[in-house]
Amino acid sequence: MIKTKKKGLLIVISGPSGSGKGTIIKDLLQKNENIWLSISCTSRQPRGSEQNKIDYYFLTKEEFEEKIQRDEMLEYAQYGENYYGTPKEYIKSHLDNGEDVILEIEIQGALKIKELLPETLFIFILPPSMQELKKRLEGRNTETKEKIEKRFATAYNEINEVSKYNYVVVNDTVENASNKINAIIIAERCRVDRIEEVYLNTPEEKIHENIIDKDLKNEEINI
Ligand code: ADP
Ligand code: 5GP
Repeated sequence: MIKTKKKGLLIVISGPSGSGKGTIIKDLLQKNENIWLSISCTSRQPRGSEQNKIDYYFLTKEEFEEKIQRDEMLEYAQYGENYYGTPKEYIKSHLDNGEDVILEIEIQGALKIKELLPETLFIFILPPSMQELKKRLEGRNTETKEKIEKRFATAYNEINEVSKYNYVVVNDTVENASNKINAIIIAERCRVDRIEEVYLNTPEEKIHENIIDKDLKNEEINI
């Protein structure tokens, strides 16, 4: 019997504003009880039906800067005129519990996580086209025309960073994109470097134990 690591996966999901990250993650959370979504802090104002402590911890700029001073942020970045950051609290306990943890963050923050925790899984969401991205940003109806233009212009720079991620998923339909991310997570859990222990019981299994052992230690196997 092969036992995989009990610790959960840390998963970073990024992509241009309006590409559908929030919508896809909502779908993923509904289908997968073992995923926990980290709630970020931000100094921006709530928009639409957003609620404090559910969508974000909405803070003033000063409150956010105090958190930085107290070293309470795993990472943070400025996007537009506002701060966004991942609080350190809770992440470790959820991972240790065996839950997968999603951080829905922009690229500067993702690169910081790559430095700190290189074993993290990095997924980038792309819209099917820039025309469709604009349509989705406008259709969401949560920002002013000026802010939409800014987010749309930023999207071009963000898309250039896609090569820094492990996987790219085009959000054509929410169902397709969510299924692809689910498949990526399943595949990641099967990776050899995430296997923690191998328990073998019968003599036949013992043979496999030796092979697996040699493979893992990168030793030569005589055929
Ligand atoms: P993000 O979190 O990346 O900023 P959202 O999840 O808020 O993006 O999605 C932006 C808008 O696009 C929302 O109005 C959402 O309902 C819509 N949307 C998301 N995914 C799709 C899709 N596959 N097809 C059509 N509309 C979508
Ligand atoms: P929005 O204002 O649309 O909610 O978010 C703007 C951008 O900030 C998005 O790209 C989103 O992924 C990113 N973001 C949200 N939370 C965090 C965070 O904790 N850290 C970083 N670095 N970016 C975040």
